[in-house]
Amino acid sequence: MPTPPLKQLAHPNTEATRKGLPTERVFVALGSNLGKRQAWLRFALAAFEAEPCLRLVAYSPLLETQAVVLPGQMPAPPYLNAVAELRCTFSPLELLAFLLSLEARAGRKRHKRWEARTLDLDILSFGQRQMRCPRLVVPHPRLYVRTFVLFPWAYIAPWLRLPGEKLTIWELCSRLA
Ligand code: ADP
Ligand code: MG
Repeated sequence: MPTPPLKQLAHPNTEATRKGLPTERVFVALGSNLGKRQAWLRFALAAFEAEPCLRLVAYSPLLETQAVVLPGQMPAPPYLNAVAELRCTFSPLELLAFLLSLEARAGRKRHKRWEARTLDLDILSFGQRQMRCPRLVVPHPRLYVRTFVLFPWAYIAPWLRLPGEKLTIWELCSRLA
């Protein structure tokens, strides 16, 4: 079979890199506990691959976990969780807007905090950036206590150290085990 011409293989981010645009190393948490959970996670991964400002580098195995509910709330169906590593030429707020648009496309309804959802996409870390604004906190403030985030994350980036953090993802994860 003839090899496709190089132009077809080149990823749009290659051009961004040549132009000196930053390509940040970003980690995103994926979760679903409503409807066809695996299909929603695959929908998100496919959308990452299709977006010219993103490059999907790796993703963890899909992990089933118990849903966290607020005290007094009915038990919720279990989650499928995963963590994806991306290269990204979006700004952090642009990436957040893109992720929220995917959640909306997955039919996610927002009524109550921590309610069941078809798709939840959270920015875990964005390069070495630390930011705190009303719409976005990075690194994600609750990642340190979430096994369903740290465990799949340790599969793909065990040696990663978050900005301002002494422990690696693996060490943060073992601390919770
Ligand atoms: P949760 O993921 O904690 O269950 P939601 O998915 O309902 O909550 O997100 C609520 C809001 O949290 C989002 O609209 C977004 O503005 C804000 N947010 C703050 N930091 C982050 C982050 N790191 N990743 C994703 N959303 C974030
Ligand atoms: Mg979320």
